[in-house]
Amino acid sequence: MYHYLGAAPTDAGRHAPLYVPEADFTAQLRHLSRSAIKTVSPQEYDAGLSLGALAKTAWLTFDDGRLDNYTIALPALLKAKQRATFFVIAQRALSAEPGYMNLAMLREAIDAGMSIGSHSLTHPRLARLTANELRREVFDSKARLEDALGVEVTSFCYPYGNFDAQVLELVNEAGYRLAVSTIRDNVNSGADRFRLKRVMVQPGRTGASFRYLFSSLYHWVHARKNRNRWKAKHRSAP
Ligand SMILES: [Zn+2]
Repeated sequence: MYHYLGAAPTDAGRHAPLYVPEADFTAQLRHLSRSAIKTVSPQEYDAGLSLGALAKTAWLTFDDGRLDNYTIALPALLKAKQRATFFVIAQRALSAEPGYMNLAMLREAIDAGMSIGSHSLTHPRLARLTANELRREVFDSKARLEDALGVEVTSFCYPYGNFDAQVLELVNEAGYRLAVSTIRDNVNSGADRFRLKRVMVQPGRTGASFRYLFSSLYHWVHARKNRNRWKAKHRSAP
């Protein structure tokens, strides 16, 4: 899980860890190539999930569809012959909001072998919406991106990683095949299809600290944290 590439602006505050320097990203792509880790499309990840065949596979995802994804990530990906999926906030892309990738940029990315997913229409916390608002965010973002780009949009990304059982069901009903969360882990199974766990790549992750993200130790640490979080949540429930 990436968000933005480049130096964090001075006013980034708590968002600073979301900015990965360009040099880190190119070093990470080099590591993937050298380690024969294959970067895949959502369709390939989906097939791998069904077959339980995701070893040496990475699905690179970028949340929010910001302009640096086009100016920095795309050329670096092409140079390294790797692929990624950009989860875009449909309304911002469709209205060519400054600072975000517009439709022409998204078409160029698709032509270059990248994939586009929906990160909702307006980036709200989905579990707080009314049924109608929720339907609009999940269904309309898919339909409008598909109309504008002429490709099927098969993956969804929950804004703020926020979802509940109703959100999850609607994402399924809308025809998405996969949905990504912000729950951390580097292992997913078919049962995780609509709450896929991800690895957050923070600035400074090169060399051994990047390799750690792919390790069984990383999986062990985070699976344990996720289990404890789940237990704590269910203990505090009335
Ligand atoms: Zn987001």
